[in-house]
Amino acid sequence: MADAEPSGTHRANPSVGPAAAQRKDLASALAGFPRVHLGHLPTPLEPMDRLSEHLGGPRFWVKRDDCTGLSSGGNKTRKLEFLMAEAVEQGADTIVTQGATQSNHARQTAAAAARLEMACHLLLEDRTGSNDPQYTLNGNVLLDRLHGATVAKRSGGADMAAEMEALADKLRAEGRKPYIIPGGGSNTTGALGYVNCALELDEQTATMGLKIDALVHATGSSGTQAGLVAGLAALGSDIHLLGIGVRAPREKQESMVFDLATRTATCIGREGAVRREDVRANCDYVGAGYGIPTPGMVAAVRLLAELEGLLFDPVYSGKGLDGLIDLTRKGAFDGMENVVFLHTGGSVALFGYPEAFDLPGYQPN
Ligand SMILES: *Cc1c(COP(=O)(O)O)cnc(C)c1O
Repeated sequence: MADAEPSGTHRANPSVGPAAAQRKDLASALAGFPRVHLGHLPTPLEPMDRLSEHLGGPRFWVKRDDCTGLSSGGNKTRKLEFLMAEAVEQGADTIVTQGATQSNHARQTAAAAARLEMACHLLLEDRTGSNDPQYTLNGNVLLDRLHGATVAKRSGGADMAAEMEALADKLRAEGRKPYIIPGGGSNTTGALGYVNCALELDEQTATMGLKIDALVHATGSSGTQAGLVAGLAALGSDIHLLGIGVRAPREKQESMVFDLATRTATCIGREGAVRREDVRANCDYVGAGYGIPTPGMVAAVRLLAELEGLLFDPVYSGKGLDGLIDLTRKGAFDGMENVVFLHTGGSVALFGYPEAFDLPGYQPN
């Protein structure tokens, strides 16, 4: 990829020096946790030169965690490498998890369970109230069922943690050994997947001789950002990390991320490494609510599809991109040279929202 080489930089040897020592320490801390390999890692880091030209300002890059490989990919695969290993270690034969109807987490969990010869029960919460059969049956829901998962619905606002406990009790009474994964795979075990991503990105950019100024991504159940915050803190990195919220208001999002990042840092032997000011979320791009399309998301998804041939999703990465683009126009990245957008996947959910994109010539019936 000769054209991916930024000018004026040199290839560093990533295996010497103090940064290399920190990487080695973090790698050995991670090696202490059970892990199953489910993803195609490392994921590529690619320039988005047409977008950069379009926006002006820094050079934009995309970290392709939509290419993790498992059932069309996405960020949950990295978390599941650690979560499913724990399930195996505990002798589980059944996975229970929950998410929204078009949950990418549920789909990747169903695929991981299939590969590890486990049953999978998914509880899907109706957070949008949509009765469109594309939304309720296509996209991720179609794939959940193809992977052989048992899918049950719950109404919006249900206590999903309690629903999972009740289901696990029922499964235990039937002689099964269930393992519960929280929504989004967001506990300290799942967040280790994004500690690993921070390490991978640090290694990758060192090899390329690329200095990243900012890393931006969509943040929801918080495990992705929490893992990145803990991993970057362990590496002593000064990358400006920014989560674009898709559900909660800023105060709540940041305190969720901070809490999980703090506990994750303790797990990897870096107690106290996470500072509150390392946790930044911008929640101005949520719109009417979780999973509800916004004009900015539609414009961002269409722009990237047309400029870069890349597919983003309506619920997470599309809103994240909307934030990236709007904040760039407002000067938030002025003076920076390289900004990376972490593509967390989810494009399968596009098939759950066909009419949101108002495409020319589209006939709804
Ligand atoms: C789950 C998800 C996110 C958010 O990650 P969290 O760890 O839940 O914050 C972002 N993008 C996509 C496509 C997702 O499926």
